[in-house]
Amino acid sequence: MSEAGITEADANEAGIVIVGAGQGGFQAAASLREAGYEGRVVLVGEEPGLPYQRPPLSKAYMKGDAGIEQIELRPAAFFADHHIELVNARATAIDRAARRLLLEGGARLPYAHLILATGARNRPLPVPGHDLAGVFYLRTRADADALKGRLDAARRVVVIGAGFIGLEFAAVARALGHAVTVIEAAARPLGRAVSPEMSAFFAQAHAAMGTTLLLGAGVVALKGEGGHVTAVETNDGAVHPADFVLVGIGVVPNVELAAEAGLEVANGIVVDAHLATRDPAISALGDAVAYPSRFAGGTVRLESVQNAVDQARSLAHRLTGKLSPSGEPAPFDAVPWFWSDQADLKLQMVGLAAPTDDAVLRGDPASRRFSVFRFRDGVLTAIESVNRPADHMLGRRLLAGTPAITPGQAADESFELKSLLAR
Ligand code: FAD
Ligand code: NAP
Repeated sequence: MSEAGITEADANEAGIVIVGAGQGGFQAAASLREAGYEGRVVLVGEEPGLPYQRPPLSKAYMKGDAGIEQIELRPAAFFADHHIELVNARATAIDRAARRLLLEGGARLPYAHLILATGARNRPLPVPGHDLAGVFYLRTRADADALKGRLDAARRVVVIGAGFIGLEFAAVARALGHAVTVIEAAARPLGRAVSPEMSAFFAQAHAAMGTTLLLGAGVVALKGEGGHVTAVETNDGAVHPADFVLVGIGVVPNVELAAEAGLEVANGIVVDAHLATRDPAISALGDAVAYPSRFAGGTVRLESVQNAVDQARSLAHRLTGKLSPSGEPAPFDAVPWFWSDQADLKLQMVGLAAPTDDAVLRGDPASRRFSVFRFRDGVLTAIESVNRPADHMLGRRLLAGTPAITPGQAADESFELKSLLAR
């Protein structure tokens, strides 16, 4: 019996079943094969078609610069060649005692090990009028196709939420000539992800693109005529005309399958440092999981491609018995990093900062090429970079170890950051 509780006989008979054919689920299947797993691999996904990348949905795919083939993670032949069975169905329940996954329509899939990679879904806007026609969300390819259909003629667009979805979409819509208003409840854009200094830069950059950014503004209702949205009302009594609305106010993790099977759930499917749930035959990864992270100083749930991909690789190693040099399975310990493309601005973030961490500027924001180094008690916690990929790459290496950089060195552009790695 291996660490994961899989006997060889089990594995050959039932294999590894993955629920969720998104970024993390796909990567788990591919990494299992890469790591030499020879048992059955079944990838169960409720979305039609082949697994695809979500990032281009709010960027190149939305703008029309990439088609479906460019965003699919692999062509159909890859799945056949690697003996990965793709099942297009919704999983409805887990029978843990019998180790079977129940699918919509009644089919039952036996598993030796089950991986939950169920991702997250959009948080619905809780105001009257939220169900009017012309109100869009953006998570899936189907969402993106519906939204793209509204970008063919010049329109007034209201975006609710100045997070990643809202700002990336706003940049695309402006580039296509639409009139864009972004309404954000918090006092600054991207407030969950970056420093106040970086938020201020992006607020200015979007204003310069011609977007109207309303901060600290709560949406109280969506107004409509004939069942179609026509305007958005905010809590100051203002009414903002809209031909259509995009809501991007965050996501909620898809935990129901796990919760109904009696697994622990707390803002995510709870897993340990090896991505294992309390059931040794079930692991979980990606946007749906809450895991212990030294970078967060506790349990965290991250929503990023890097997190899903690195967790999938780590899990594939554990399930195939790959051990660290100490002879133990290695815990998941990858440095978190993220990116966002907004017009010609490439924002890259590495590490996890608390809102109160100090911010030290390196470079001049006016040059549109600068970084913000974040420190807590003099210790580097994160780097946010705009159009400065070298700072970001260096940050990945620094933060993987014990970063020995002072705020003074970070602020001094004549100081060679690379010299810190040579030590
Ligand atoms: P997902 O990719 O969401 O996959 C989960 C899959 O599971 C979904 O297909 C879902 O339908 C399926 N599923 C759920 N429940 C069931 C069930 N019961 N049965 C069957 N199937 C089920 N991240 C970045 O790092 N950089 C970016 O630039 C970036 N841009 C983004 C742009 C957009 C528009 C969006 C929506 C996200 C973006 N992200 C970005 C976030 C990134 O895509 C996610 O963090 C990543 O996809 C998470 O992977 P996952 O496998 O956990 O979840
Ligand atoms: P997000 O980044 O969490 O941003 C949501 C924003 O909406 C937050 O600023 C939030 O403010 C605000 N908000 C919440 N309720 C609101 C309300 N009622 N009215 C107005 N604003 C409100 O989430 P997202 O942009 O919707 O993105 C969804 C998912 O896609 C996330 O997982 C995200 O990471 C992912 N994504 C990532 C990228 C990237 O990494 N480049 C790009 C696109 C999407 P508060 O924080 O104050 O609640």
